[in-house]
Amino acid sequence: MTLLPSANLYAALSAAFPADRTAIAIETPEKNYTWNDIDTLSGQLATFLTGLNVPAGSRVAVQVEKSPVALMLYLATLRAGLVYLPLNTAYREAEVAYFIQDAEPAIVVCDPANQGWVSELANGVGAHVFTLNEAGQGTLTEASASCASDFVTVACPADTLAAILYTSGTTGRSKGAMLSHGNLLANAQVLKTAWGWRSDDVLLHMLPIFHVHGLFVGANGALLAGARMIWLPKFTADDALRYLPRATLMMGVPTYYVRLLAEPRFDKAVCASVRLFISGSAPLLAETFRAFEERTGQRILERYGMSETNMLTSNPYRAEDGQRLAGTVGRPLPGVGVRVVNDADAIVPVGSIGHVQVKGPNVFSGYWRMPEKTRQEFTADGWFRTGDLGRFGGENTPDDYLSIVGRSKDLIISGGFNVYPKEIEEVIDALPGVQESAVIGVPHADFGEAVVAVVVPRAGAHLDPAPLQAELKQRLANFKVPKQVHVVDTLPRNTMGKVQKNVLRTQFQG
Ligand code: AMP
Repeated sequence: MTLLPSANLYAALSAAFPADRTAIAIETPEKNYTWNDIDTLSGQLATFLTGLNVPAGSRVAVQVEKSPVALMLYLATLRAGLVYLPLNTAYREAEVAYFIQDAEPAIVVCDPANQGWVSELANGVGAHVFTLNEAGQGTLTEASASCASDFVTVACPADTLAAILYTSGTTGRSKGAMLSHGNLLANAQVLKTAWGWRSDDVLLHMLPIFHVHGLFVGANGALLAGARMIWLPKFTADDALRYLPRATLMMGVPTYYVRLLAEPRFDKAVCASVRLFISGSAPLLAETFRAFEERTGQRILERYGMSETNMLTSNPYRAEDGQRLAGTVGRPLPGVGVRVVNDADAIVPVGSIGHVQVKGPNVFSGYWRMPEKTRQEFTADGWFRTGDLGRFGGENTPDDYLSIVGRSKDLIISGGFNVYPKEIEEVIDALPGVQESAVIGVPHADFGEAVVAVVVPRAGAHLDPAPLQAELKQRLANFKVPKQVHVVDTLPRNTMGKVQKNVLRTQFQG
């Protein structure tokens, strides 16, 4: 194996930094950071991490609020040849206990407010503990302040582990997806071309950085383009309205776009400088796509990916490559193989629903310390089973465009028939007075599972379950008609905008 320094992701990112390193790379409401600052701050932290003398490949578990320093810590971890392990800030003690026991990090960085219980957990695995708050202050910053900043990035082969992302794990144990420097670089390079990243781009970055979307798609993307980021701790419609007029790119989960559209101040003029709005991590409703186009004249580009693989498919960026279509996630990205198969792993015809399987340089090597689970999730010929159900082509959709119809674990089998929740949700969402819906299966003595719909009315609208159900009987085959309809104010969502169907199943079973 060759030990080219460029196989370290940071080496590739920093090689793309602009010639003028005194230019602003990261802008926050409080402070700006130049490209030089990124190099020296991440260098200083890398010197510090290296000085702890932990073995190469040690995990650095990080559960902190978003800040530029937190981004520097990610880069420092890459530079030092250690493994970055970000944790959702929503996780509480019992959840973090699992991750620490499973990953056995050598270094844990936490919010000062959690130092007490995190230290106890970290002591159990002999890890060093440091703190970092949302202002970039804490024992990590203090301890590294006097370290040298001229760190030489560690050379490593492309298959060296760079990060472990734990899946959200709504069923069973959360699994650590192992991503290499090569996986991350391959995807960042493909997206750079696919989305036409330029050095004069300005990315409005409002996503969390404990997840593939904000950390890899967003931050790696901007760094590899040598493009500026406006770095905000989280999404608010007010902030988006304030900063969009200076941005050229925005990435968001669908809820960001829904919330922007709820603002009468959000209009064409606000996004005049934005060349591309990108959505992912959860399905973008066709209605949001259309309302957005009507309001701004721009079509949101929807893409599809996951922690284990980074990005897999994307709607086209350039008009000459085709249209961005609502309800689809576009074509496989260059170099990424995507196939839709039946239960026997045989490819199904265009237009048919099946399991989505993928292959490519972006696809992870396996789940941390779960060889058996890893073996099950890859086919003998090396395709990763995503757990998503999808379809190529279909009505009014080109044959090479993929649509995701849901997670296979959300598929409902009622009376022996397959019921795809998305199909029913689309019918419900089109009814008057409906804002959105989620269709789930709950255990049923006769049918195995019964179809249940949870429906959110539009603001000011009133919905009654009985007439809604009667309406659905007119439009759907009997086995698809929800046996129960519940009207609720909102659907439970996680921070990435995904509807938590497991929560609904618990709530509405029986
Ligand atoms: P995560 O690993 O948290 O990024 O979750 C990945 C999952 O999110 C995928 O397997 C899909 O189920 C879902 N997902 C991501 N992007 C989309 C999209 N554009 N449309 C529908 N589902 C999506």
